Amino acid sequence: MTSGPVHIHERTALVTGGASGIGRACVLALAAAGAKVHVVDRDGAGARRVAGEVGGWAHAVDLADAEAVAALPTEVDILVNNAGLQHVAALHEFPPERFELIQRVMVTAPFLLIRRCLPHMYARGWGRIVNISSVHGLRASAFKSAYVAAKHGLEGLSKVAAIEGAPHGVTSNCVSPGYVRTPLVENQIEAQAREHGIDADQVVERVLLDRVPLKRLIEAEHIADLVLWLCGPHAGHLTGASLPVDGGWTAT
Ligand code: NAD
Repeated sequence: MTSGPVHIHERTALVTGGASGIGRACVLALAAAGAKVHVVDRDGAGARRVAGEVGGWAHAVDLADAEAVAALPTEVDILVNNAGLQHVAALHEFPPERFELIQRVMVTAPFLLIRRCLPHMYARGWGRIVNISSVHGLRASAFKSAYVAAKHGLEGLSKVAAIEGAPHGVTSNCVSPGYVRTPLVENQIEAQAREHGIDADQVVERVLLDRVPLKRLIEAEHIADLVLWLCGPHAGHLTGASLPVDGGWTAT
């Protein structure tokens, strides 16, 4: 496989959760490669800020709301299902409404968006679906039942999209990171440092990356580089896969 700079000037992308972290990095990378980008987030101000940085379009949408999802554009060549949230609690105490919300945002919304965007991709004979999953789409951890169930669901959905999309030039893959340096994780580090009475570096090494051989947080830009790479012509045969960017976590 060869790879060079990816040019996607004639493409339109839609990135969910584009106001922050990995989603924002994906918006910047896709726009820098020439795509026009729809930035979708429930944080409307954040979406407008990021869209403004790249001359894209902002959509203030709560992905848990199927009617709001139904109003999003369908003429999309590159769909990045990225928005997500976490809730940590033991199974026997896990709030059912929180579990259900996480499935809606992280599985049902990607399904609705894929379903809506496929006809346009099929008509053009080209499409890229990139689902930001997680190591937790491939491995389980205690106290994260909703998140682990949703990410495993997203991995399954992505494979079905790959099989159905193949005759139409549409690929679908999961990018499955370990811990990435984003506001979500930085807040967890601060909280854990206070709780354990240790400094932030020690939290990263001993708590978050306890099971991970490579003891460094991943940068959001590196995830975005891989998402962009999946949009290049060299990646046309890579479909139905999960690409773990996890510092060796899934090798253990
Ligand atoms: P983040 O909190 O920085 O960004 C998530 C974005 O999603 C936010 O802008 C938020 O407003 C948006 N969002 C959440 N719920 C939404 C909803 N109902 N409707 C619309 N937008 C909504 O998080 P991040 O770390 O960049 O995570 C992005 C994705 O990457 C998530 O799917 C997450 O599970 C996944 N991921 C993150 C890590 C990590 O370590 N940060 C690791 C593996 C996977």
